[in-house]
Amino acid sequence: MTLTGHMLIGQHTVAGNRAAIRGIDPATDAVLEPAYAGGSAEHVEQACALASAALDAYRETTLSGRAEFLQSIAEEIEALGDELIERAHAETGLPRPRLQGERRRTCQQLRLFARTVRAGEWLDVRVDTAQPQRQPLPRSDLRQRQIPLGPVAVFGASNFPLAFSVAGGDTASALAAGCPVVVKAHSAHPGTSELVGGAIARAIKACGLPEGVFSLLYGSGREVGIALVSDPRIKAVGFTGSRSGGLALLQAAQVRAEPIPVYAEMSSINPVLLFPAALHNRARALAEGFVGSLTLGAGQFCTNPGLVIACKGPALDSFIEATAEQIKRQAAQTMLTPGIFKAYESAVNTLTENSAAHIAAQGQIGSGPNQGQAHLFVTDAADFLADHNLQAETFGAAALIVQCASDDEIRQVTEQLEGQLTATLHLDDADLEQARALLPILERKAGRLLVNGWPTGVEVCNAMVHGGPFPATSDARTTSVGTAAILRFLRPVCYQDFPDSLLPSALQQANPLHLSRLLDGHREALAHAE
Ligand code: NAP
Repeated sequence: MTLTGHMLIGQHTVAGNRAAIRGIDPATDAVLEPAYAGGSAEHVEQACALASAALDAYRETTLSGRAEFLQSIAEEIEALGDELIERAHAETGLPRPRLQGERRRTCQQLRLFARTVRAGEWLDVRVDTAQPQRQPLPRSDLRQRQIPLGPVAVFGASNFPLAFSVAGGDTASALAAGCPVVVKAHSAHPGTSELVGGAIARAIKACGLPEGVFSLLYGSGREVGIALVSDPRIKAVGFTGSRSGGLALLQAAQVRAEPIPVYAEMSSINPVLLFPAALHNRARALAEGFVGSLTLGAGQFCTNPGLVIACKGPALDSFIEATAEQIKRQAAQTMLTPGIFKAYESAVNTLTENSAAHIAAQGQIGSGPNQGQAHLFVTDAADFLADHNLQAETFGAAALIVQCASDDEIRQVTEQLEGQLTATLHLDDADLEQARALLPILERKAGRLLVNGWPTGVEVCNAMVHGGPFPATSDARTTSVGTAAILRFLRPVCYQDFPDSLLPSALQQANPLHLSRLLDGHREALAHAE
Protein backbone atom coordinates (compact mmCIF):
# COMPACT_ATOMS: atom_id res chain seq x y z
CA MET A 1 0.00 0.00 0.00
CA THR A 2 1.32 3.46 -0.88
CA LEU A 3 1.33 5.75 2.11
CA THR A 4 -0.51 8.99 1.36
CA GLY A 5 0.41 11.20 4.30
CA HIS A 6 -3.30 11.95 4.68
CA MET A 7 -5.72 11.73 7.58
CA LEU A 8 -8.74 9.46 7.49
CA ILE A 9 -12.00 11.18 8.25
CA GLY A 10 -14.66 8.50 7.98
CA GLN A 11 -14.04 6.84 4.61
CA HIS A 12 -12.26 9.90 3.17
CA THR A 13 -8.54 10.62 2.99
CA VAL A 14 -8.03 14.28 3.84
CA ALA A 15 -4.84 16.36 3.61
CA GLY A 16 -4.00 18.40 6.70
CA ASN A 17 -3.18 22.09 6.64
CA ARG A 18 -0.80 22.45 9.58
CA ALA A 19 2.89 21.77 10.16
CA ALA A 20 3.90 18.37 8.84
CA ILE A 21 4.92 15.45 11.02
CA ARG A 22 7.43 12.95 9.69
CA GLY A 23 8.43 9.61 11.00
CA ILE A 24 12.07 9.40 12.06
CA ASP A 25 14.08 6.20 12.07
CA PRO A 26 15.61 6.40 15.55
CA ALA A 27 18.38 3.96 14.59
CA THR A 28 19.76 6.40 12.01
CA ASP A 29 17.91 9.67 12.58
CA ALA A 30 16.79 9.41 8.93
CA VAL A 31 13.60 11.31 8.12
CA LEU A 32 10.98 9.04 6.56
CA GLU A 33 8.54 9.79 3.74
CA PRO A 34 5.80 10.83 3.38
CA ALA A 35 5.13 14.00 5.35
CA TYR A 36 1.91 14.01 7.37
CA ALA A 37 0.44 17.51 7.35
CA GLY A 38 -1.23 18.09 10.70
CA GLY A 39 -4.95 18.53 11.11
CA SER A 40 -6.68 21.56 12.57
CA ALA A 41 -9.90 22.42 14.40
CA GLU A 42 -11.82 22.04 11.16
CA HIS A 43 -10.76 18.39 10.84
CA VAL A 44 -11.58 17.68 14.47
CA GLU A 45 -15.01 19.16 13.78
CA GLN A 46 -15.56 16.91 10.73
CA ALA A 47 -14.42 13.75 12.52
CA CYS A 48 -16.54 14.45 15.60
CA ALA A 49 -19.62 15.29 13.53
CA LEU A 50 -19.30 11.96 11.70
CA ALA A 51 -18.67 10.06 14.95
CA SER A 52 -21.71 11.61 16.56
CA ALA A 53 -23.88 10.84 13.52
CA ALA A 54 -22.68 7.20 13.59
CA LEU A 55 -23.36 6.64 17.28
CA ASP A 56 -26.99 5.54 17.35
CA ALA A 57 -26.68 3.16 14.42
CA TYR A 58 -23.39 1.70 15.63
CA ARG A 59 -24.44 1.18 19.22
CA GLU A 60 -27.49 -0.78 18.12
CA THR A 61 -25.53 -3.21 15.94
CA THR A 62 -26.24 -6.80 16.95
CA LEU A 63 -23.73 -8.45 19.24
CA SER A 64 -22.66 -10.78 16.48
CA GLY A 65 -22.46 -7.94 13.94
CA ARG A 66 -20.17 -5.93 16.20
CA ALA A 67 -18.06 -9.00 16.98
CA GLU A 68 -17.64 -9.70 13.26
CA PHE A 69 -16.48 -6.12 12.78
CA LEU A 70 -13.76 -6.52 15.45
CA GLN A 71 -12.65 -9.80 13.87
CA SER A 72 -12.61 -8.16 10.47
CA ILE A 73 -10.24 -5.43 11.76
CA ALA A 74 -7.88 -8.18 12.95
CA GLU A 75 -8.02 -9.87 9.55
CA GLU A 76 -7.34 -6.59 7.73
CA ILE A 77 -4.34 -5.90 9.98
CA GLU A 78 -2.95 -9.37 9.32
CA ALA A 79 -3.46 -8.84 5.59
CA LEU A 80 -1.08 -5.85 5.74
CA GLY A 81 1.70 -8.42 6.04
CA ASP A 82 5.34 -7.44 6.23
CA GLU A 83 4.73 -3.86 5.11
CA LEU A 84 3.30 -3.10 8.54
CA ILE A 85 6.22 -4.69 10.38
CA GLU A 86 8.80 -2.96 8.18
CA ARG A 87 7.22 0.47 8.61
CA ALA A 88 6.81 0.05 12.36
CA HIS A 89 10.42 -1.13 12.60
CA ALA A 90 11.63 1.92 10.65
CA GLU A 91 9.57 4.32 12.77
CA THR A 92 10.30 2.91 16.23
CA GLY A 93 13.58 0.99 16.07
CA LEU A 94 11.79 -1.92 17.75
CA PRO A 95 13.08 -5.31 16.58
CA ARG A 96 10.95 -7.11 13.98
CA PRO A 97 10.21 -10.17 16.18
CA ARG A 98 8.93 -7.88 18.92
CA LEU A 99 6.68 -6.13 16.39
CA GLN A 100 5.43 -9.44 15.03
CA GLY A 101 4.55 -10.45 18.58
CA GLU A 102 2.86 -7.13 19.12
CA ARG A 103 0.78 -7.56 15.95
CA ARG A 104 -0.26 -11.00 17.20
CA ARG A 105 -1.25 -9.50 20.52
CA THR A 106 -3.18 -6.69 18.81
CA CYS A 107 -5.20 -9.14 16.72
CA GLN A 108 -5.75 -11.53 19.66
CA GLN A 109 -6.98 -8.54 21.64
CA LEU A 110 -9.50 -7.63 18.92
CA ARG A 111 -10.68 -11.26 18.78
CA LEU A 112 -10.95 -11.46 22.56
CA PHE A 113 -13.15 -8.35 22.53
CA ALA A 114 -15.20 -9.94 19.73
CA ARG A 115 -15.87 -12.94 22.00
CA THR A 116 -16.62 -10.61 24.90
CA VAL A 117 -19.13 -8.65 22.85
CA ARG A 118 -20.86 -11.85 21.73
CA ALA A 119 -21.16 -13.22 25.27
CA GLY A 120 -22.90 -9.99 26.32
CA GLU A 121 -22.03 -10.17 30.04
CA TRP A 122 -20.79 -6.60 29.77
CA LEU A 123 -24.41 -5.50 29.28
CA ASP A 124 -24.80 -6.44 32.97
CA VAL A 125 -28.53 -7.01 32.59
CA ARG A 126 -30.45 -6.64 35.86
CA VAL A 127 -34.18 -7.20 36.08
CA ASP A 128 -36.40 -6.51 39.09
CA THR A 129 -39.89 -7.52 38.00
CA ALA A 130 -42.96 -5.60 39.12
CA GLN A 131 -44.54 -6.47 42.47
CA PRO A 132 -47.99 -4.88 42.21
CA GLN A 133 -49.15 -6.52 45.45
CA ARG A 134 -46.17 -5.44 47.54
CA GLN A 135 -47.06 -3.68 50.81
CA PRO A 136 -46.99 -0.92 51.84
CA LEU A 137 -46.19 0.18 48.25
CA PRO A 138 -46.14 -1.73 44.96
CA ARG A 139 -42.80 -2.08 43.13
CA SER A 140 -42.42 -1.00 39.49
CA ASP A 141 -40.82 -3.19 36.85
CA LEU A 142 -37.16 -2.08 36.65
CA ARG A 143 -34.58 -3.22 34.11
CA GLN A 144 -31.00 -2.09 33.68
CA ARG A 145 -28.48 -2.48 30.87
CA GLN A 146 -25.23 -0.76 29.94
CA ILE A 147 -25.04 1.57 26.94
CA PRO A 148 -21.95 3.16 25.33
CA LEU A 149 -20.90 6.61 26.53
CA GLY A 150 -20.60 8.02 23.01
CA PRO A 151 -17.67 8.92 20.72
CA VAL A 152 -14.27 8.29 22.33
CA ALA A 153 -10.97 10.10 21.64
CA VAL A 154 -7.95 7.77 21.69
CA PHE A 155 -4.32 8.89 21.95
CA GLY A 156 -1.97 6.17 20.69
CA ALA A 157 1.10 5.29 22.75
CA SER A 158 4.66 5.60 21.42
CA ASN A 159 5.91 2.42 23.08
CA PHE A 160 3.31 0.05 21.62
CA PRO A 161 2.88 1.23 18.03
CA LEU A 162 0.40 -1.60 17.38
CA ALA A 163 -1.04 -2.98 20.62
CA PHE A 164 -1.60 0.44 22.22
CA SER A 165 -2.03 2.65 19.22
CA VAL A 166 -4.56 3.06 16.40
CA ALA A 167 -6.22 -0.37 16.76
CA GLY A 168 -4.85 -1.08 20.24
CA GLY A 169 -6.54 -1.78 23.55
CA ASP A 170 -8.27 1.58 23.94
CA THR A 171 -9.74 1.52 20.43
CA ALA A 172 -10.72 -2.16 20.64
CA SER A 173 -12.48 -1.75 23.99
CA ALA A 174 -14.28 1.45 22.92
CA LEU A 175 -15.46 -0.12 19.66
CA ALA A 176 -16.51 -3.23 21.59
CA ALA A 177 -18.59 -1.05 23.89
CA GLY A 178 -20.34 0.49 20.88
CA CYS A 179 -18.49 3.81 20.84
CA PRO A 180 -17.25 5.42 17.61
CA VAL A 181 -13.56 6.30 17.92
CA VAL A 182 -11.49 9.28 16.79
CA VAL A 183 -7.75 8.55 17.10
CA LYS A 184 -5.11 11.26 17.47
CA ALA A 185 -2.16 9.42 15.93
CA HIS A 186 1.10 9.42 17.87
CA SER A 187 3.53 11.62 15.98
CA ALA A 188 6.30 9.04 16.40
CA HIS A 189 4.75 6.45 14.05
CA PRO A 190 2.51 8.20 11.49
CA GLY A 191 3.03 5.64 8.69
CA THR A 192 2.23 2.69 10.95
CA SER A 193 -0.86 4.61 12.04
CA GLU A 194 -1.97 5.20 8.44
CA LEU A 195 -1.60 1.49 7.60
CA VAL A 196 -3.63 0.38 10.61
CA GLY A 197 -6.18 3.18 10.15
CA GLY A 198 -6.73 1.97 6.56
CA ALA A 199 -7.32 -1.56 7.87
CA ILE A 200 -10.05 -0.31 10.22
CA ALA A 201 -11.65 1.77 7.45
CA ARG A 202 -11.77 -1.29 5.18
CA ALA A 203 -13.37 -3.37 7.94
CA ILE A 204 -16.02 -0.65 8.40
CA LYS A 205 -16.82 -0.72 4.70
CA ALA A 206 -16.89 -4.51 4.52
CA CYS A 207 -19.26 -4.69 7.51
CA GLY A 208 -21.56 -1.98 6.14
CA LEU A 209 -21.12 0.25 9.19
CA PRO A 210 -21.51 4.04 9.24
CA GLU A 211 -18.27 5.71 8.16
CA GLY A 212 -18.07 7.87 11.29
CA VAL A 213 -17.32 4.81 13.46
CA PHE A 214 -13.62 5.59 12.99
CA SER A 215 -11.44 8.56 12.06
CA LEU A 216 -7.68 9.09 12.32
CA LEU A 217 -6.22 12.56 12.78
CA TYR A 218 -2.60 13.74 12.70
CA GLY A 219 -1.22 16.84 14.29
CA SER A 220 0.10 18.30 17.49
CA GLY A 221 -1.36 17.22 20.80
CA ARG A 222 -1.64 20.82 21.89
CA GLU A 223 -3.79 21.77 18.89
CA VAL A 224 -5.58 18.69 17.53
CA GLY A 225 -5.45 16.73 20.80
CA ILE A 226 -6.88 19.49 22.97
CA ALA A 227 -9.50 20.41 20.33
CA LEU A 228 -10.58 16.76 20.22
CA VAL A 229 -10.91 16.42 23.98
CA SER A 230 -12.75 19.74 24.10
CA ASP A 231 -15.29 18.82 21.42
CA PRO A 232 -18.71 18.45 23.06
CA ARG A 233 -19.47 15.32 21.01
CA ILE A 234 -16.54 13.42 22.54
CA LYS A 235 -17.69 11.62 25.69
CA ALA A 236 -14.51 9.90 26.97
CA VAL A 237 -10.76 9.79 26.39
CA GLY A 238 -8.19 6.96 26.37
CA PHE A 239 -4.51 7.92 26.63
CA THR A 240 -1.10 6.33 27.29
CA GLY A 241 1.98 8.51 27.58
CA SER A 242 3.68 11.05 29.82
CA ARG A 243 2.30 12.43 33.06
CA SER A 244 2.37 15.97 31.66
CA GLY A 245 0.47 14.93 28.50
CA GLY A 246 -2.12 12.97 30.49
CA LEU A 247 -2.64 15.83 32.93
CA ALA A 248 -3.06 18.36 30.09
CA LEU A 249 -5.83 16.22 28.59
CA LEU A 250 -7.40 15.65 32.00
CA GLN A 251 -7.51 19.39 32.58
CA ALA A 252 -8.99 20.04 29.12
CA ALA A 253 -11.69 17.45 29.86
CA GLN A 254 -12.51 18.99 33.23
CA VAL A 255 -12.92 22.59 32.03
CA ARG A 256 -15.46 21.63 29.35
CA ALA A 257 -19.06 22.72 29.87
CA GLU A 258 -19.70 18.99 30.24
CA PRO A 259 -16.66 17.35 31.87
CA ILE A 260 -15.89 13.83 30.64
CA PRO A 261 -13.84 10.89 31.96
CA VAL A 262 -10.20 10.63 30.91
CA TYR A 263 -8.58 7.22 31.24
CA ALA A 264 -4.92 8.22 31.15
CA GLU A 265 -2.16 5.74 31.87
CA MET A 266 0.85 7.87 32.76
CA SER A 267 3.80 6.92 34.93
CA SER A 268 4.79 4.07 37.18
CA ILE A 269 8.10 2.84 38.62
CA ASN A 270 6.75 -0.62 39.51
CA PRO A 271 8.45 -1.41 42.83
CA VAL A 272 9.99 -4.84 43.39
CA LEU A 273 10.32 -6.05 46.99
CA LEU A 274 12.99 -8.64 47.67
CA PHE A 275 12.23 -10.49 50.91
CA PRO A 276 15.10 -11.85 53.05
CA ALA A 277 14.81 -15.61 52.47
CA ALA A 278 14.34 -15.23 48.72
CA LEU A 279 17.28 -12.84 48.56
CA HIS A 280 19.44 -15.17 50.65
CA ASN A 281 18.53 -18.29 48.65
CA ARG A 282 18.74 -16.97 45.10
CA ALA A 283 20.33 -13.54 44.80
CA ARG A 284 22.02 -14.31 41.48
CA ALA A 285 18.90 -15.76 39.85
CA LEU A 286 16.92 -12.75 41.02
CA ALA A 287 19.56 -10.44 39.53
CA GLU A 288 19.32 -12.24 36.21
CA GLY A 289 15.52 -12.05 36.09
CA PHE A 290 15.56 -8.42 37.18
CA VAL A 291 18.05 -7.27 34.53
CA GLY A 292 16.10 -9.17 31.85
CA SER A 293 12.89 -7.35 32.78
CA LEU A 294 14.59 -3.96 33.28
CA THR A 295 16.31 -3.94 29.90
CA LEU A 296 13.52 -5.54 27.84
CA GLY A 297 12.61 -3.24 24.95
CA ALA A 298 15.24 -0.70 26.10
CA GLY A 299 13.22 -0.37 29.32
CA GLN A 300 10.40 1.38 27.48
CA PHE A 301 7.54 -0.43 29.16
CA CYS A 302 5.04 1.17 31.49
CA THR A 303 5.57 -1.88 33.73
CA ASN A 304 9.35 -1.57 33.72
CA PRO A 305 10.71 -2.42 37.22
CA GLY A 306 12.41 0.87 38.11
CA LEU A 307 12.61 0.48 41.90
CA VAL A 308 13.93 -2.34 44.10
CA ILE A 309 13.33 -2.33 47.85
CA ALA A 310 15.17 -4.68 50.24
CA CYS A 311 16.92 -4.90 53.60
CA LYS A 312 20.65 -4.12 53.76
CA GLY A 313 23.03 -7.02 54.31
CA PRO A 314 25.26 -9.53 52.56
CA ALA A 315 22.37 -11.02 50.54
CA LEU A 316 21.43 -7.63 49.11
CA ASP A 317 25.13 -6.90 48.47
CA SER A 318 25.34 -10.11 46.42
CA PHE A 319 22.23 -9.11 44.48
CA ILE A 320 23.62 -5.64 43.75
CA GLU A 321 26.96 -7.09 42.71
CA ALA A 322 25.36 -9.67 40.38
CA THR A 323 22.99 -7.06 38.94
CA ALA A 324 25.85 -4.61 38.36
CA GLU A 325 27.90 -7.29 36.56
CA GLN A 326 25.03 -7.97 34.19
CA ILE A 327 24.19 -4.31 33.62
CA LYS A 328 27.81 -3.65 32.62
CA ARG A 329 27.50 -6.31 29.91
CA GLN A 330 24.24 -4.89 28.49
CA ALA A 331 24.55 -3.45 24.99
CA ALA A 332 22.92 -0.06 24.46
CA GLN A 333 19.55 -0.21 22.68
CA THR A 334 17.86 2.13 20.22
CA MET A 335 15.15 4.10 21.97
CA LEU A 336 11.80 4.90 20.36
CA THR A 337 12.33 8.53 19.45
CA PRO A 338 15.04 11.18 19.74
CA GLY A 339 12.74 12.95 22.24
CA ILE A 340 12.35 9.87 24.47
CA PHE A 341 16.13 9.26 24.30
CA LYS A 342 16.80 12.87 25.34
CA ALA A 343 14.27 12.61 28.18
CA TYR A 344 15.99 9.39 29.34
CA GLU A 345 19.43 10.97 29.29
CA SER A 346 18.17 13.97 31.16
CA ALA A 347 16.50 11.81 33.86
CA VAL A 348 19.68 9.72 34.23
CA ASN A 349 21.77 12.91 34.54
CA THR A 350 19.43 14.22 37.21
CA LEU A 351 19.87 11.00 39.20
CA THR A 352 23.63 11.05 38.65
CA GLU A 353 23.81 14.58 40.02
CA ASN A 354 21.68 13.69 43.04
CA SER A 355 24.14 13.16 45.90
CA ALA A 356 21.68 10.81 47.61
CA ALA A 357 22.02 8.19 44.84
CA HIS A 358 25.19 6.61 43.54
CA ILE A 359 25.76 4.77 40.27
CA ALA A 360 26.40 1.06 40.82
CA ALA A 361 26.74 0.21 37.12
CA GLN A 362 26.31 1.48 33.58
CA GLY A 363 25.72 -0.56 30.45
CA GLN A 364 27.80 -0.31 27.32
CA ILE A 365 27.83 2.88 25.32
CA GLY A 366 26.13 2.61 21.92
CA SER A 367 27.66 3.84 18.68
CA GLY A 368 24.63 5.11 16.72
CA PRO A 369 22.07 7.78 17.59
CA ASN A 370 19.45 7.41 20.36
CA GLN A 371 21.24 4.52 22.10
CA GLY A 372 19.91 4.10 25.62
CA GLN A 373 22.59 2.88 28.04
CA ALA A 374 21.33 0.83 31.00
CA HIS A 375 21.92 2.28 34.48
CA LEU A 376 21.74 1.01 38.05
CA PHE A 377 21.60 3.39 41.01
CA VAL A 378 21.61 2.70 44.74
CA THR A 379 20.31 4.81 47.61
CA ASP A 380 19.42 4.45 51.28
CA ALA A 381 15.87 4.42 52.61
CA ALA A 382 16.43 7.58 54.64
CA ASP A 383 17.49 9.48 51.51
CA PHE A 384 14.64 8.02 49.49
CA LEU A 385 12.16 9.08 52.14
CA ALA A 386 13.63 12.59 52.24
CA ASP A 387 13.63 13.25 48.48
CA HIS A 388 10.44 12.78 46.47
CA ASN A 389 12.41 13.29 43.21
CA LEU A 390 13.88 9.82 43.66
CA GLN A 391 10.42 8.46 42.80
CA ALA A 392 10.31 10.13 39.36
CA GLU A 393 9.82 7.73 36.44
CA THR A 394 12.93 7.28 34.29
CA PHE A 395 11.43 5.94 31.08
CA GLY A 396 14.15 3.55 29.93
CA ALA A 397 16.46 0.88 31.35
CA ALA A 398 17.40 2.58 34.64
CA ALA A 399 16.57 1.40 38.14
CA LEU A 400 17.14 2.51 41.71
CA ILE A 401 17.77 0.10 44.58
CA VAL A 402 16.62 1.33 47.98
CA GLN A 403 18.56 -0.22 50.87
CA CYS A 404 16.51 -0.35 54.06
CA ALA A 405 17.89 -0.75 57.57
CA SER A 406 14.87 -2.58 58.97
CA ASP A 407 11.43 -3.99 58.21
CA ASP A 408 10.02 -0.76 59.53
CA GLU A 409 11.97 1.22 56.92
CA ILE A 410 10.66 -1.09 54.18
CA ARG A 411 7.19 -0.32 55.47
CA GLN A 412 7.85 3.43 55.45
CA VAL A 413 9.29 3.38 51.92
CA THR A 414 6.35 1.33 50.67
CA GLU A 415 3.88 3.61 52.40
CA GLN A 416 5.43 6.66 50.78
CA LEU A 417 5.23 5.33 47.21
CA GLU A 418 3.01 7.01 44.67
CA GLY A 419 0.32 4.96 42.89
CA GLN A 420 1.72 2.19 40.67
CA LEU A 421 0.62 -0.14 37.89
CA THR A 422 2.34 -3.07 39.58
CA ALA A 423 4.14 -4.16 42.74
CA THR A 424 6.25 -7.34 42.71
CA LEU A 425 7.13 -9.54 45.68
CA HIS A 426 9.98 -12.04 45.57
CA LEU A 427 9.55 -14.39 48.48
CA ASP A 428 10.12 -17.87 49.83
CA ASP A 429 8.01 -19.67 52.44
CA ALA A 430 9.92 -18.09 55.30
CA ASP A 431 8.97 -14.63 53.96
CA LEU A 432 5.21 -15.17 53.89
CA GLU A 433 4.38 -13.43 57.18
CA GLN A 434 6.46 -10.37 56.33
CA ALA A 435 4.85 -10.20 52.89
CA ARG A 436 1.36 -10.57 54.38
CA ALA A 437 2.02 -7.61 56.66
CA LEU A 438 2.83 -5.40 53.65
CA LEU A 439 -0.11 -6.48 51.52
CA PRO A 440 -2.61 -3.90 52.83
CA ILE A 441 -0.20 -1.13 51.84
CA LEU A 442 0.60 -2.66 48.45
CA GLU A 443 -3.09 -3.13 47.63
CA ARG A 444 -3.60 0.58 48.25
CA LYS A 445 -0.67 1.45 46.00
CA ALA A 446 -0.92 -0.77 42.92
CA GLY A 447 -3.33 -2.27 40.39
CA ARG A 448 -1.52 -5.61 39.98
CA LEU A 449 0.47 -7.50 42.64
CA LEU A 450 2.79 -10.28 41.48
CA VAL A 451 4.70 -12.97 43.35
CA ASN A 452 8.01 -14.38 42.09
CA GLY A 453 7.62 -12.98 38.57
CA TRP A 454 8.49 -9.80 36.71
CA PRO A 455 6.02 -7.07 35.84
CA THR A 456 6.85 -6.66 32.14
CA GLY A 457 4.63 -8.82 29.93
CA VAL A 458 0.98 -7.99 30.51
CA GLU A 459 -1.45 -10.81 29.71
CA VAL A 460 -4.55 -9.71 27.80
CA CYS A 461 -7.30 -11.66 29.56
CA ASN A 462 -10.39 -11.33 31.73
CA ALA A 463 -8.69 -10.94 35.11
CA MET A 464 -5.94 -8.48 34.12
CA VAL A 465 -5.70 -5.08 35.78
CA HIS A 466 -3.43 -2.65 34.00
CA GLY A 467 -4.25 0.40 36.02
CA GLY A 468 -3.66 1.78 39.47
CA PRO A 469 -3.90 4.85 41.69
CA PHE A 470 -2.63 8.23 40.46
CA PRO A 471 -0.17 8.90 38.85
CA ALA A 472 -0.11 5.38 37.38
CA THR A 473 -3.48 6.33 35.91
CA SER A 474 -6.00 9.12 36.22
CA ASP A 475 -8.74 6.70 37.32
CA ALA A 476 -7.83 3.78 39.57
CA ARG A 477 -11.22 2.10 39.16
CA THR A 478 -10.46 0.64 35.78
CA THR A 479 -7.98 -1.19 33.57
CA SER A 480 -6.74 -0.38 30.09
CA VAL A 481 -5.73 -3.99 29.30
CA GLY A 482 -8.04 -7.01 29.32
CA THR A 483 -11.74 -7.41 28.77
CA ALA A 484 -12.70 -5.28 31.79
CA ALA A 485 -11.38 -2.28 29.79
CA ILE A 486 -14.76 -2.23 28.02
CA LEU A 487 -16.40 -1.03 31.27
CA ARG A 488 -14.64 2.36 30.94
CA PHE A 489 -16.84 3.28 28.01
CA LEU A 490 -20.26 2.24 29.32
CA ARG A 491 -22.92 3.66 31.58
CA PRO A 492 -26.09 2.13 33.02
CA VAL A 493 -29.60 3.03 31.94
CA CYS A 494 -32.67 1.88 33.86
CA TYR A 495 -36.02 1.30 32.13
CA GLN A 496 -39.03 1.57 34.44
CA ASP A 497 -42.42 0.05 33.61
CA PHE A 498 -41.68 -0.24 29.90
CA PRO A 499 -44.01 -2.37 27.79
CA ASP A 500 -42.00 -5.43 26.71
CA SER A 501 -42.15 -4.53 23.03
CA LEU A 502 -40.59 -1.11 23.70
CA LEU A 503 -37.65 -2.55 25.65
CA PRO A 504 -34.26 -3.14 24.00
CA SER A 505 -34.00 -6.85 23.17
CA ALA A 506 -31.33 -7.31 25.88
CA LEU A 507 -33.98 -6.53 28.50
CA GLN A 508 -37.06 -8.26 27.11
CA GLN A 509 -38.66 -10.77 29.42
CA ALA A 510 -38.15 -13.77 27.10
CA ASN A 511 -34.39 -12.98 27.01
CA PRO A 512 -34.11 -13.40 23.22
CA LEU A 513 -30.32 -12.77 23.31
CA HIS A 514 -29.83 -15.53 25.93
CA LEU A 515 -27.93 -13.17 28.20
CA SER A 516 -26.81 -13.90 31.70
CA ARG A 517 -29.20 -11.83 33.87
CA LEU A 518 -29.62 -10.94 37.50
CA LEU A 519 -33.35 -11.69 37.72
CA ASP A 520 -35.08 -10.66 40.94
CA GLY A 521 -31.79 -10.98 42.80
CA HIS A 522 -30.84 -14.41 41.40
CA ARG A 523 -28.28 -15.12 38.70
CA GLU A 524 -30.12 -16.93 35.88
CA ALA A 525 -28.38 -19.94 34.40
CA LEU A 526 -27.03 -19.01 30.98
CA ALA A 527 -28.50 -21.23 28.24
CA HIS A 528 -25.85 -20.28 25.67
CA ALA A 529 -24.21 -17.15 24.27
CA GLU A 530 -25.46 -15.62 21.02
P1 NAP B 1 3.61 12.09 25.36
O1 NAP B 1 4.58 13.18 25.15
O2 NAP B 1 2.76 12.17 26.55
O3 NAP B 1 2.68 12.02 24.05
C1 NAP B 1 1.57 11.13 23.96
C2 NAP B 1 0.46 11.79 23.14
O4 NAP B 1 -0.09 12.88 23.88
C3 NAP B 1 0.94 12.38 21.81
O5 NAP B 1 -0.07 12.19 20.86
C4 NAP B 1 1.14 13.82 22.14
O6 NAP B 1 1.00 14.67 21.02
C5 NAP B 1 0.04 14.08 23.14
N1 NAP B 1 0.39 15.15 24.08
C6 NAP B 1 1.54 15.26 24.79
N2 NAP B 1 1.53 16.39 25.54
C7 NAP B 1 0.35 16.99 25.31
C8 NAP B 1 -0.25 18.19 25.78
N3 NAP B 1 0.36 18.98 26.65
N4 NAP B 1 -1.47 18.51 25.31
C9 NAP B 1 -2.09 17.71 24.44
N5 NAP B 1 -1.58 16.57 23.95
C10 NAP B 1 -0.38 16.21 24.37
O7 NAP B 1 4.30 10.68 25.39
P2 NAP B 1 5.45 10.08 24.46
O8 NAP B 1 5.79 10.97 23.33
O9 NAP B 1 5.00 8.73 24.10
O10 NAP B 1 6.67 9.91 25.43
C11 NAP B 1 7.19 10.94 26.20
C12 NAP B 1 7.39 10.45 27.62
O11 NAP B 1 6.18 9.85 28.09
C13 NAP B 1 8.40 9.35 27.79
O12 NAP B 1 9.71 9.83 27.89
C14 NAP B 1 7.91 8.69 29.04
O13 NAP B 1 8.37 9.38 30.16
C15 NAP B 1 6.44 8.80 28.99
N6 NAP B 1 5.75 7.57 28.50
C16 NAP B 1 5.14 6.80 29.41
C17 NAP B 1 4.48 5.66 28.97
C18 NAP B 1 3.78 4.78 29.94
O14 NAP B 1 3.42 3.70 29.53
N7 NAP B 1 3.53 5.19 31.15
C19 NAP B 1 4.44 5.31 27.63
C20 NAP B 1 5.07 6.13 26.73
C21 NAP B 1 5.71 7.27 27.19
P3 NAP B 1 2.21 15.08 20.05
O15 NAP B 1 1.97 14.32 18.83
O16 NAP B 1 2.07 16.54 19.86
O17 NAP B 1 3.48 14.69 20.73
